[in-house]
Amino acid sequence: MKLRQRIIHGLKAAADLILPRACVVCGERLLLNERIICLHCQADLPLTHFWEQKHNPMSDRFNAVIQHVLEKAWNGMEWQINGLLSNGTREKYAYATALFFYSHEAPYRHILYNLKYEGRIDVGRHFGRMLGAKLATSSTFKDADCVMPVPLHWARKWKRGYNQAEIIAKEVAAALGTRLDCGILHRRRRTRTQTRLDIKGKATNVEDAFEAYLPRLDSNDIKHIILIDDVFTTGSTLHACFTALRSVFPPSVRISVATLAFVGGV
Ligand SMILES: [Zn+2]
Repeated sequence: MKLRQRIIHGLKAAADLILPRACVVCGERLLLNERIICLHCQADLPLTHFWEQKHNPMSDRFNAVIQHVLEKAWNGMEWQINGLLSNGTREKYAYATALFFYSHEAPYRHILYNLKYEGRIDVGRHFGRMLGAKLATSSTFKDADCVMPVPLHWARKWKRGYNQAEIIAKEVAAALGTRLDCGILHRRRRTRTQTRLDIKGKATNVEDAFEAYLPRLDSNDIKHIILIDDVFTTGSTLHACFTALRSVFPPSVRISVATLAFVGGV
């Protein structure tokens, strides 16, 4: 080992003694070569592999929710649809993927909890990078030219200090080598936290909560947007964002969604 590496190794070991690092999932102490998550939990991370499948349970759920928005957008643009479909570039289906499956019982729920409520930006970065790496290998997602986080209301962002979706989106944009846009989509009003609401309550809570502006000339270059959030449950938040974006982008612009976690069985 070179002297520099030995010094770094020594410093890491000393730091671990002062402030031991723990696995975000199981809470066990991390080894020197482990970061955020231990190798055991990493090996068992319940990956969805949805980025390898255009049609999957998450995109089916999302498309069921957004269907009426899609129909409206495409019906108004018959000529464009015919043109686009004939050269095979677009279809009436939005793509969706998540990195891993989420359940309230599984210890992997700690990843989202730590990112959202414990100020663990490093956790968001780590799993955001992992999601970005998967999307970069996906034929469905790798051509995206704009990554957008679901906006947080300014009051909540001020209180929390950051927007967890933005932390993930930054890493995804870096992995895809594309732009991060936090200026087109806005939260119009503050909403109640979605956690304790039922499906209908969630949809009503976020309806019309978002709006989109196309302020910049370079927005004309956008062909494929990926909307990013931390978790996908009923899809109501992403549906509200999708509706706002659809109102300013023509149907030829594809809008996909990607999250860290997907809640099955809703
Ligand atoms: Zn662990």
